[in-house]
Amino acid sequence: AAGFLGSHLSDYLLDGGFSVVGMDNLLTGDLANIQHLTGRDFVFVKHDVTNYINLPGPIDLIFHFASPASPIDYLRVPIQTLKVGSLGTHNTLGLAKAKQARFLLASTSEVYGDPLVHPQREDYWGNVNPVGPRGVYDEAKRFAEAMTMAYHRVHGVQTRIVRIFNTYGPRIRIDDGRAVPAFMSQALRNEDVTVFGDGSQTRSLCYVSDLIDGIFRLMLSDTSDPVNIGNPQELTISQLAEQIIALTGSRSRVVYRPLPVDDPR
Ligand code: UDP
Repeated sequence: AAGFLGSHLSDYLLDGGFSVVGMDNLLTGDLANIQHLTGRDFVFVKHDVTNYINLPGPIDLIFHFASPASPIDYLRVPIQTLKVGSLGTHNTLGLAKAKQARFLLASTSEVYGDPLVHPQREDYWGNVNPVGPRGVYDEAKRFAEAMTMAYHRVHGVQTRIVRIFNTYGPRIRIDDGRAVPAFMSQALRNEDVTVFGDGSQTRSLCYVSDLIDGIFRLMLSDTSDPVNIGNPQELTISQLAEQIIALTGSRSRVVYRPLPVDDPR
């Protein structure tokens, strides 16, 4: 709940009249993201969902968003990333089963790996390197999807899977290393804007409020198959850099740096 998306999801649910219990182990989350919720119908529990979750009382909806999600974060904490995607998904699904709650898994466009099919439809199985540095995130989320479908098929849990594409907006960490906050902070300081590779790789960018609205609607739907939420218009990373430089009126120049290993094209 104290991460970028979890905090916006909490806002959305509280505005919709829900009582919210927010969990976070604060590995990549930050209490500053949920400080404004003091006094609302919100309880914060500091907990790592890779451990058994004990919550009294009824629960209607469970949104499992716990995970490092930025490449620099999951490269720094690869084992925690694998554990929260596997053990954390198992525990949150177990809670959903026990409470007869609906469950939504935050999955990722990274399940497609470095895709060989464009654009990526949900029925494409992807092109993932399990043993590369990004494998810890991609495979954890692929396992999480498999576990979610197993709980759906075996235990009849009402499950939803959203595959989230690159999302941006307020509260994204300025130093989380991703293209939008990196380019914005570089442009605002008139520093070099660092494009990795030749900048021809594309991303599908979604504004956070659109994403959260889509996620809530998916939760209310009856779709247990995975659903992509992103943007039908892809941008190259070079276009993104140029747009941010233009919008900020910056004097920054674009500089090219090596493409990280297994960076999706
Ligand atoms: N990227 C870049 N410069 C940066 C940060 C990221 O060129 O300072 C590139 C990165 O290599 C990738 C794309 O921008 O090709 C999007 O990266 P991001 O980390 O935002 O998300 P990803 O989709 O790779 O998880």
